[in-house]
Amino acid sequence: MDISRYRVPAGETVDLSTWDPHDNGGLDRDDAEDETKALNKELESLQELLHAEGRHKVLVVIQATDTGGKDGTIRHVFDGVNPSGVTVAPFKKPTPEELAHDYLWRVHQHTPGSGELTIFNRSHYEDVLVVRVHELVPGERWSRRYEHIRNFEQLLVDEGTTIVKLFLHISKDEQRERLQDRIDRPDKNWKFSFGDLAEREHWADYQEAFRVMLEETSTDDAPWYVIPADRKWFRNRVISEIIVSTLRSLDMAYPDPEEGVPGTVVP
Ligand code: AMP
Ligand code: MG
Repeated sequence: MDISRYRVPAGETVDLSTWDPHDNGGLDRDDAEDETKALNKELESLQELLHAEGRHKVLVVIQATDTGGKDGTIRHVFDGVNPSGVTVAPFKKPTPEELAHDYLWRVHQHTPGSGELTIFNRSHYEDVLVVRVHELVPGERWSRRYEHIRNFEQLLVDEGTTIVKLFLHISKDEQRERLQDRIDRPDKNWKFSFGDLAEREHWADYQEAFRVMLEETSTDDAPWYVIPADRKWFRNRVISEIIVSTLRSLDMAYPDPEEGVPGTVVP
């Protein structure tokens, strides 16, 4: 699978209407699910290698519209991966203490250390998404944040972090179905709040905020991928491929054993 077709080229204008959320890449669902499982096995070993080598830091940022599938992605793509090597950092509404600081303050402390893989479930990008749509700070403040974010991510990259950013792209119809499902199924009611319907009314504003985010912050070193996410199986397939090929490209190796270890017999 050629993942480069899902990467947003740095410095180019973005038109979200040219990215089809319903795309299935021409794949067969059963085949794709088998391939995702195989990639998941490979991810397990690559993650162990990442941990053993202890050299690279890997940050996966996930953003999406409500119901876009962030939690499902994390569950499926990282299924079975050693939980002690992978950390999920969720970013909710900021606390008063967080709000009393700059918006990157709460984010920086959750970035991965050497040998770690961290997944941001929402991120500093909320500060140019929900904050922009609802003008939680004036335009003159949020508009400067794209540059801060590019610089912040460049700092992380320069200091040895590999960054992959995933935008889960669903259609407005798909969102209706997923919200309706949360209402109709008692076991899913906990996921629904009337606030989600209020947010849905801002669909167009969010799409514009996502568009500008992609345009302003996809860089060669910290690229965004637009993931067609209406079909969950295809979403999982594409994301697995992106994560695995990113880890493969790190060219990792197990550290050399201490001198004299090979051949030593335990008494
Ligand atoms: P959930 O992911 O469904 O638990 O919801 C988390 C909520 O926190 C979402 O409504 C986000 O928009 C909100 N949120 C996350 N980060 C921020 C932020 N920096 N400012 C305002 N709201 C935020
Ligand atoms: Mg929610």
